[in-house]
Amino acid sequence: MKVLVVNCGSSSLKYQFIETRDSLVLAKGLVERIGLGEVEYSFTHGNLPKTKITIQAKNHTEALKEVLNKLTSKEYGVLESLDEIEAIGHRVVHGGESFYHSALITDEVLKAIEVNCELAPLHNPPNLQGILACEEVLPSKKQVAVFDTAFHQTMPEESYMYALPYEYYQKYKIRRYGFHGTSHRYVAMKAAEFLGKPLESLNLITCHLGNGSSITAIRGGKSIDTSMGFTPLEGVVMGTRSGSLDPATLLYIMEKESLTPKQMSDLLNKKSGILGLSGISNDMREINAAEQGNARAQLTLKVLTHSIRRYIGAYMVELGRVDAIIFTAGIGENDYVVRELCMENMENWGFALDKEKNKQTRGTLTDISLPNSLSRILVVPTNEELMIALETQWVIEGKEK
Ligand code: AMP
Repeated sequence: MKVLVVNCGSSSLKYQFIETRDSLVLAKGLVERIGLGEVEYSFTHGNLPKTKITIQAKNHTEALKEVLNKLTSKEYGVLESLDEIEAIGHRVVHGGESFYHSALITDEVLKAIEVNCELAPLHNPPNLQGILACEEVLPSKKQVAVFDTAFHQTMPEESYMYALPYEYYQKYKIRRYGFHGTSHRYVAMKAAEFLGKPLESLNLITCHLGNGSSITAIRGGKSIDTSMGFTPLEGVVMGTRSGSLDPATLLYIMEKESLTPKQMSDLLNKKSGILGLSGISNDMREINAAEQGNARAQLTLKVLTHSIRRYIGAYMVELGRVDAIIFTAGIGENDYVVRELCMENMENWGFALDKEKNKQTRGTLTDISLPNSLSRILVVPTNEELMIALETQWVIEGKEK
């Protein structure tokens, strides 16, 4: 099936046009600064080199029209006509407690996404705008919403409830939701394929380590716990996000520095994590380059990998038996130093890393454990767009359950 995958941010529209049969990306592009004057549009269509232009687009609908023009144009087109788009799959960040799966977009589904805007005020509204733009411009197409949170709706209540007064769960739906669901699901599926075993028979720990990071415990293909919580701030140390910390520290900092809730949120989300600790960058490539002889870079690497190991340890206990630990996303796929430190001294737990193979592995699906390792350590490149395209197809074919 040929699926247009759409991911809308507040001023951006990212897309890929994918043929799911052979996982082929026929075209992809990004429109940025929508509604902010000069709009930048970069795209790679077919075998043509990457093209960058500026366009006029006051809103997502106008940006989408421009994209569709380019997709069907003589010069840059990969489609004879828009009829070739068989379905549209949208990334939607928050499905709240309404969605366990991806969903065909109906009036009811649109309403539920709107209700969940409260839980993701920065993300759900532009996601919704993207859907409405497609409805306006391509009214005859089937559209599917693929939620970041849906995969984690299988968590049991002991994983998702916070020990706050219960009324806050009832009044405000404060609980752990988890994010990066499409990525965790995709790499778990790929790992099962690679290991030649049914996903239902496997216990996995998936480590999505990118600019945002989360770790998930998966039993038989279902998420039973994950490190991100009510928002994507909880969990391991991230590029600019603190991850978990004693909640009392933020009350203390707010009082000492006279910060408003918005300023405190910025500090935790944009100025902390790898960037805040190192004072160098949010990018692990720069931390690695500075690491030799730089005490703060060394500290950052230690704190980061320690925070990852904490979750791996906790999830081993929760799962009881772990068949594979999977590394994915920017850091997980590329940074062998992080992987080595994460897997240090794990032989007694059944995980023996092949250090040489680990060093050589970058962005390819590889088993980086020693042959005699009881359980596997895998690097599995993620592909969230392909997962969205596949889920879109499965929903339309009635296979998503
Ligand atoms: P993602 O959010 O998955 O796109 O990951 C982006 C992050 O991955 C960057 O901010 C870097 O910290 C990290 N990254 C990407 N490439 C490398 C690399 N070659 N070595 C180490 N870290 C990398």
